[in-house]
Amino acid sequence: MKELICIVCPRGCHLTVDDNLNVSGNNCPRGEAYAKAELTHPTRTLTSTVKITSKLEVRCPVKTDKPLPKEKIYEAMDLINHVKISAPVKIGDIILENILGTDVNIVATKNINE
Ligand code: SF4
Repeated sequence: MKELICIVCPRGCHLTVDDNLNVSGNNCPRGEAYAKAELTHPTRTLTSTVKITSKLEVRCPVKTDKPLPKEKIYEAMDLINHVKISAPVKIGDIILENILGTDVNIVATKNINE
């Protein structure tokens, strides 16, 4: 038996999952899907910043374009920490492609024009 708090929406339902992956305590189907994924293949959306050469900013905010396997988070942060880009950059620009062979890209989340 495992207990989890659903993080899919702010309601934060307290979930219980038995050994056969039967989920209870969820107030909607997304909670069941979250609990099963969390116990079989947990993922997270990663947000961070990268260095940028720009007149306006020293860091550019970035995030993964889809959830990354949780066990890859530290390796991904190491890659992100070694990146330096130059302005201009637009929201959605791919900063790092297919990181760690996961088919997940790191994309910019801010327009920095110069
Ligand atoms: S189970 Fe549904 S209602 Fe409850 S926190 Fe998760 S997404 Fe929100």
